[in-house]
Amino acid sequence: MRGAALLGLCSRRRFQAGPRAASETGLLASSAWVRSTRALSSKTASATDGSARLRALEQPWPVVIVGGGPTGLTLGLLLRGLGVSSLILESRQWLTEHPQAHLINHRAMEIFRPLAGLSRDIQDAQPDFEDWRRFVYCQGLTGPLLGTVDHFPRQTDASRPDLSPEPLAHLSQHRLVPLLAARLDALHQCPGVSCHAGSLAIWGAEPAARPVQNDASSRARCEMVMGARAARLEEAAGGRGATLHVDVSPDAAGATTTSSKAFALSTSFVVAADGASSALRRSLGIGSTGEPDMQRLINVHFVWPELASALRSQRREGMLYFVYSSEATAVLVAHDLRRGEFVAQIPHFAPKGVESFPEAACVDILRKVAGGSASSDELPGFSSAPARAPSSFPSLRASSPRILDVRAWRMGGFVADSYHRARTALAGDAAHAFPPAGALGMNTGVGDAQALAW
Ligand SMILES: Cc1cc2nc3c(=O)[nH]c(=O)nc-3n(C[C@H](O)[C@H](O)[C@H](O)COP(=O)(O)OP(=O)(O)OC[C@H]3O[C@@H](n4cnc5c(N)ncnc54)[C@H](O)[C@@H]3O)c2cc1C
Repeated sequence: MRGAALLGLCSRRRFQAGPRAASETGLLASSAWVRSTRALSSKTASATDGSARLRALEQPWPVVIVGGGPTGLTLGLLLRGLGVSSLILESRQWLTEHPQAHLINHRAMEIFRPLAGLSRDIQDAQPDFEDWRRFVYCQGLTGPLLGTVDHFPRQTDASRPDLSPEPLAHLSQHRLVPLLAARLDALHQCPGVSCHAGSLAIWGAEPAARPVQNDASSRARCEMVMGARAARLEEAAGGRGATLHVDVSPDAAGATTTSSKAFALSTSFVVAADGASSALRRSLGIGSTGEPDMQRLINVHFVWPELASALRSQRREGMLYFVYSSEATAVLVAHDLRRGEFVAQIPHFAPKGVESFPEAACVDILRKVAGGSASSDELPGFSSAPARAPSSFPSLRASSPRILDVRAWRMGGFVADSYHRARTALAGDAAHAFPPAGALGMNTGVGDAQALAW
């Protein structure tokens, strides 16, 4: 494995007890483990001098990618495979923990295949096909059923060899991104901590099924610096390159430096993969056409194993649940029924914001979405299949969802008026944003990465 010299304080061996414990005890234990290893990694960072992260920011890179989401990471890894080095700047200190997108289409899986077998790792990590082949429409998750749609009729798995050598997959973005990050040459977190792929465990990812074996023949490198926010871009005269001004935050423990540090990176190409509200797109004066504010949603990320059991006992396994009742309306994404991990997308209207959804209110809404009342309202035009009596789910009634995160999300649909200016290109949500139906958001970003790299 390349870059083995970077393995040190953050090596996988050092954290071996963590992933094993997480896989044995499930998500809740895994979350606790993530928190404890975060504290450990911060402590480790505070004891170092920050030299590795600073070195990465001081050397010239042919390509600088702003944004370490799925688009930016895929682009950096594809470029490395083609012999081009790149540095990814990510303003957050940590990889995303919110599930966000989850359906990976055939084309994205084809693009992932050469990335050290990423498509294989995705298939190994995803839930069983039977858990996600259907959409379910109901008046409560344990209430009357309106109907189900099997999106893979006559298929026993998600492959369609007549369409693609790679199958569709269902793996949440917060589990995909660490698999991408595991393929980097270095992941610079806090000053002085240079995390090689082998140390991925400190990010709270699932233990890799097998070690990642990057292409050893490539001399190019792809590194990512966390806590580095691109603040301003200056195009060089004559379009010969650009200077990117970057603010680098202190390490997570705030111990090595106490204030942010500014860098000016000179580079030949910049790619803005900094998401739908891309500051770089706006700083380049590139407008957009469409509707950036189609609907406002509150995303409640929660774990409720008893709900997953109740769904299984009714043979209601599905990827998406559309719940309509006079008590609550929501779309529930079953990110992983094995762990009982869900996101409920709840529409809301201004002036309500995320502050109107404290944990107790979310639990109350989720109980209503779970439903169970056998006498829900009749929806015009539907004849509901009767529900089992609420008493059929005693463990569901006796339990509570554990809320992990509550976020506001603005669903938009827009396209940038231009995809590039001089030596800067836009990619992913920075260039175009989609409503989630059709799973075009992340998949199109991965497609952009491939289109830019080759
Ligand atoms: C809360 C939420 C829920 C979503 N749910 C769904 C869903 O259910 N289904 C679906 O299809 N899609 C969903 N999406 C959209 C989907 O996640 C995106 O299409 C996808 O993440 C796009 O990937 P990207 O890499 O282009 O952008 P992003 O994933 O947004 O990544 C951009 C990255 O750039 C970083 N960044 C921003 N500014 C700077 C800067 N100045 N300097 C350095 N770094 C910067 C950000 O921290 C971020 O990590 C959701 C998005 C959000 C935010």
